[in-house]
Amino acid sequence: MTANAELLGRYGDSLLGVFGTPALVIERGEGCYVWDADGKRYLDLLAGIAVNALGHNHPEIVGAVSKQVGEVVHVSNFFTTRAQIGLAEALLKAAGAPDGSRVFFTNSGTESMEAAIKLARRTGRPGIIAAQGAFHGRSTGALALTAKAAYREPFEPLLPGVKHIPYGDADALAGALTPEVGAVVLEPIQGEAGVIEPPEGYLQRVRELTRMAGVLMIVDEVQTGIGRTGDWFAFQSTGIVPDAITIAKGLGGGVPIGALMTFGPEVSALLQPGMHGTTFGGNPLACAAGLAVLATITRDGLLENAIRVGDAFAAAVVALEHPLICGVRGRGLLRGISLTEPIAPAVATLARDAGFIVNPVAPDTLRLAPPLIITAAELTTFVDALPALLDAAAA
Ligand SMILES: *Cc1c(COP(=O)(O)O)cnc(C)c1O
Repeated sequence: MTANAELLGRYGDSLLGVFGTPALVIERGEGCYVWDADGKRYLDLLAGIAVNALGHNHPEIVGAVSKQVGEVVHVSNFFTTRAQIGLAEALLKAAGAPDGSRVFFTNSGTESMEAAIKLARRTGRPGIIAAQGAFHGRSTGALALTAKAAYREPFEPLLPGVKHIPYGDADALAGALTPEVGAVVLEPIQGEAGVIEPPEGYLQRVRELTRMAGVLMIVDEVQTGIGRTGDWFAFQSTGIVPDAITIAKGLGGGVPIGALMTFGPEVSALLQPGMHGTTFGGNPLACAAGLAVLATITRDGLLENAIRVGDAFAAAVVALEHPLICGVRGRGLLRGISLTEPIAPAVATLARDAGFIVNPVAPDTLRLAPPLIITAAELTTFVDALPALLDAAAA
């Protein structure tokens, strides 16, 4: 028996079955590569679902986290640390946040959404509008905003007052902005739905409509943020300023951390002392990792890399002119390869056997969200392998 098989047997006997059986036991990583328990190497084109922004075992994260571990790991929110203050300042700067903006640290994307829901409730109007296809997390609050019926139905009734409207349709939003609505929550690109981009100008229209209606516009940047699309945050490419954003995934480069960012003094005043809290949120260990991620993205020009390498990758996939490929969606290093047949799961399995980790996010879509440090040459090895993988999956 292989080491992978032996360990996966033990996994099945000890872990709750909510994830099914994992594909691999990963033992170590270096740069954009990981190795499984049998020593096989894979090019990691998913980065733990847009999490390992600097790849694996990055010296800046190893150094920052090691140093922080040796100083102080946790202090509670009765106290604060240089790392926590420094990361909040760095995030506000990266977001170009207006004066009076603030940061609340969490441990995950879901917890960032929970904080956002409480922010929305503080408008005094319980209605929240989200989009069809949306993914915002699995806790009972965040799940009410998530659209997928299979995730929701076993747990209904969920938080009341949430209405889902078609994504990318500003007129549908205009019609849904009743006096009970306090907030609109949207992903700037829908990641879990299959890397779906809204039409040009949609977020700008949402901003106009929500401003006119006095409704909060909350942008879920959990997957798109921290450089993934080539801007620090995807909303920045649209010129709008939302009322709040949620982040997580890439922020800690693999160390669990998230945040709610509130923009401007009025929105930041909605959550007052005592109204929200968390034990681990903002701990210095996770904040040290976040600081290393932001500093390294800046130092190494990784926003530019995401655009340059991401655009070259999309162009190279299109240039294959393969009959099973209909196009490439997304921006920067968040990409969906759209297929003409529902063979994405088979392609992903064959790709893994060939040493590439990609994600069949939808039956007809392969999602790639590689580390922001990835090179054009590394991506080219996958582009070169793709035609044969598609042909084999369709055969
Ligand atoms: C992953 C994700 C979440 C949930 O984040 P967790 O860290 O898994 O709780 C929320 N929103 C979006 C857009 C996501 O991609």
